[in-house]
Amino acid sequence: MAELTELTIRQAHEGLKKKEFSSADLAKAHLEKIKKEDKKINSYLSLTEKLAMFQAELADKKIASGNCGELTGIPCSIKDAIMVEGEKCTAGSKILESYIAPYDATAVKKLKENGSVILGKNNTDEFTMGSSTENSAFGVTKNPSDLDRVAGGSSGGSAASVASGMAMYSLGSDTGGSIRQPASFCGVVGLCPTYGAVSRYGLIAHASSLDQIGPFARNVDDIEIVFKAIAGKDRLDATSADYSYKKSDENLNGLKIGLPKEYFAKGLEKEVENIVRNAIEKAREAGAEIVEISLPSFKYALACYYIIDPSEISANLARFDGIKYGLSEDGDKLLDVYLKTRGRGFGAEVKRRIMIGTHCLSSGYYDAYYKKAQEVRQLIKKDFEKAFEKADLIFCPVSPFPAFKIGEKTEDPLSMYLADIYTIPAKLAGLPGLSLPAGKIGKLPVGLQIIGNHFQENKIISAASQIEKLLS
Ligand code: GLN
Repeated sequence: MAELTELTIRQAHEGLKKKEFSSADLAKAHLEKIKKEDKKINSYLSLTEKLAMFQAELADKKIASGNCGELTGIPCSIKDAIMVEGEKCTAGSKILESYIAPYDATAVKKLKENGSVILGKNNTDEFTMGSSTENSAFGVTKNPSDLDRVAGGSSGGSAASVASGMAMYSLGSDTGGSIRQPASFCGVVGLCPTYGAVSRYGLIAHASSLDQIGPFARNVDDIEIVFKAIAGKDRLDATSADYSYKKSDENLNGLKIGLPKEYFAKGLEKEVENIVRNAIEKAREAGAEIVEISLPSFKYALACYYIIDPSEISANLARFDGIKYGLSEDGDKLLDVYLKTRGRGFGAEVKRRIMIGTHCLSSGYYDAYYKKAQEVRQLIKKDFEKAFEKADLIFCPVSPFPAFKIGEKTEDPLSMYLADIYTIPAKLAGLPGLSLPAGKIGKLPVGLQIIGNHFQENKIISAASQIEKLLS
């Protein structure tokens, strides 16, 4: 039998049902591996060992009484921007270094209700701003495939923990690419659901019109299991949608796959393109029809995102004032408390975005920047609407390049921002996207991005699972 830390959710579920091992065995095997091996990867910021062993015991009782759901007893990890009651939640920031979450995020609550076992909290770029986890106040997460390289970001810790057998699945969050890009860099599957498909309650806000929680796992089947469990309406998040996942049995045969010509252009590394095109070719051989589509506003997407995103950040992060949450520096006057706490608590990227956002929203500039960006966002949405008249799904790269070297882009924010050029457009349109491991350049994994229309995660998952088989 494979090592307990190498099993998929489905395999572990079968083993638990047959009593080949217990949930406590699974939790212990994972915790041991984390303690031994995570020093070199840094995918966890904290372990929730007591909670894990308590949940494992509960799960074993459930299983003994013949009540074993697909997630009962399955060990997972949670990005440290998503709250788990009674546990630290730092969002990768010094300002929340000792903050304890007062309640469970709805997605976490659902996982607990399903009997999952939470092992710990994963490293993230500070307040989920970044593409490499290098913006974390607590050290970079290294890529398990090559320790000199980044795991991607901002959910780099989640992706690396799943890739290295230190969690069977993980929850991350994606605002502009933070699930899909690290999934691609680490060689795991990552699903960014439709905006509103999963409750954001209990996710520390980055940019509220874009933020979305989603799963990482080692195969598409496992992604489906977790997504089913966390999706749906939540009265605590007004933007959550009345939605439940229904499996699709649609075949690749006859499926129309759109390739956006703007994505397969200058800037895309040749070896990445070859891997993505090889996966597309497999779909074509299986009967899919490949159609060229165009997203003419693609060229404005990054600029549009970097106005809307910092604008929302500047509003959302105003709450970290040294009074209400976390770090609080002394000062003679209230203003000193604000300035010192925020000056010392926030890192460079967070400060940069707050400044950009405050500028974009300031009177006299609001129309020129924020309002304009909202108009461009509508154009991008329309591009996708048109594209989905011609295609059932869109296939494209996740990132123009594979995992880059640690330190390679830290001095140049614009080159870092380019890492998300292919994930941001769909996000501005609120669309779901999945990253599927499609091949490797040397030892570096490369993902294929599958984008669907709103709430068509089922179509994405069914296509991804067929292509996964064709590629294996
Ligand atoms: N890298 C993008 C940013 O820094 C996206 C981050 C994310 O999706 N959380 O904003």
